Amino acid sequence: MARANISFLMALRLCNTLTNREEEFTPLEDNLVRMYSCGPTVYDYAHIGNYRTFVLQDILRRFLKFKGYQLFHVMNITDVDDKTIRNAKAAGVSLRQYTDRFTAAFLEDSEKLRLEKPEKLVRATDHIPEMVELIRQLEARGLTYTSDGSVYYRIGSFAGYGKLSKLDVAGIMPGARVDVEEYEKEHPRDFVLWKAAKEGEPFWETELGPGRPGWHIECSAMSMKYLGPSFDIHTGGSDLVFPHHENEIAQSEGATGRPFVRFWFHCEHLIVDGRKMSKSLGNFYTLRDLLGQGFSPDSMRYLLASVPYRKQLNFTFDGLRQAASSIERLRNFRLRLQTEKFAEGQEPAAAERLARASADFAAALDDDINTAAALGAVFEALRELNIAADAGRFLSGNVPAALALLDRFDRIFDVLGTEAERHQSNELKGLAVEVDEKLRQRAEARKARNFALADQIRQQLLDRGVIIEDTKEGARWKLKSSA
Ligand code: AMP
Ligand code: ZN
Repeated sequence: MARANISFLMALRLCNTLTNREEEFTPLEDNLVRMYSCGPTVYDYAHIGNYRTFVLQDILRRFLKFKGYQLFHVMNITDVDDKTIRNAKAAGVSLRQYTDRFTAAFLEDSEKLRLEKPEKLVRATDHIPEMVELIRQLEARGLTYTSDGSVYYRIGSFAGYGKLSKLDVAGIMPGARVDVEEYEKEHPRDFVLWKAAKEGEPFWETELGPGRPGWHIECSAMSMKYLGPSFDIHTGGSDLVFPHHENEIAQSEGATGRPFVRFWFHCEHLIVDGRKMSKSLGNFYTLRDLLGQGFSPDSMRYLLASVPYRKQLNFTFDGLRQAASSIERLRNFRLRLQTEKFAEGQEPAAAERLARASADFAAALDDDINTAAALGAVFEALRELNIAADAGRFLSGNVPAALALLDRFDRIFDVLGTEAERHQSNELKGLAVEVDEKLRQRAEARKARNFALADQIRQQLLDRGVIIEDTKEGARWKLKSSA
């Protein structure tokens, strides 16, 4: 039925971590793809390694749409864990205030890197009741135990444990009780679902007792809430295969008895000069660091996308400069197409070359999102067409197809907009994120009857040229100049 819209020329093949094979991808239901991505832990600015995974997920997202699928993509924000709690405490602010700040920073960086917004972006702390409910279901099925007020998952009770990471559970002998993160467990691999409240840490008063969720339960609860018990694609960096995703499977399938995720898509890491990126090695970069050094977000996006997701990417400044010059070549070619006076007519060889490049581009992405091959298809054609044009073998009738190839490329890679266009739209989008956040804070202040704070926020926005109007549907805003 709705499948009629899908480009059937070639099927998308994806390497599925669960089966360890490349498989043909089709969604569970009609042409709708349900996809979940583990989002950032907002304890600090995300680093460019994190953004490699987010950019590659964005490429997958865009290619699914390119093929005619509809997408329902959910991403979470992990806004409660040991690191967010520790850093909020050190900064002397509430957990929410702290994580709001780094969520806003993540959204700003994401805009700069042209990451499409998932259909739903959700915060873990807004889903505590769903997590509690899921833990209750696991309890009812006898998959948990309680120790010192914390609830654990007993992995020995779930037959499929290890199937994603190919971990041999039988080979792990239960040893003496271990005390990881200061919580008592029966088996070293058992993991915490609910952590008992600790002195000086935020907690929620729930049926499970006072405490906070473990990291893994967050993603099971949020993904299944929005996507159902079984969905199509789950993504993340390769470090999440074990234990995070293995535990998500145990939680979700343990609770529902149904298969959780059909395709697991894992991005290999970004490394720096052949070594793991880490603060202690001094090779740790945020997007802000690199933009501050004069590199553009387009070059960064291009570089992060250019190596296929199943290979590690070795980050170097040279690579970043090459990315910038690759984008320049594409922009110059476009400028040539737009400004040069080519002779009238249509050159069949050029037309054929363009058709081939366009098909090769899509075929490369169909082949397990081979971004390097997709770029290769475009650049080879570009080189040959430049030569042809110099020799008068590229005619005005070939221009539309050449521009269409660049459009096709940019629907996925999205790096060709001019700097001026980018600057303006980024500024406006940055402002929109900021205003939304302020409006949320103002609504909270009003709810708490803190009208002084609400007025202060209104004034802050006015100072930025933003006027708020309160309507029955909530607050709206507009720019002073367009008032
Ligand atoms: P986190 O904020 O630590 O929860 O990580 C957010 C995402 O970035 C997850 O999907 C991680 O697997 C991924 N990630 C972490 N480090 C890297 C890296 N060096 N290269 C690529 N992805 C990474
Ligand atoms: Zn997750």
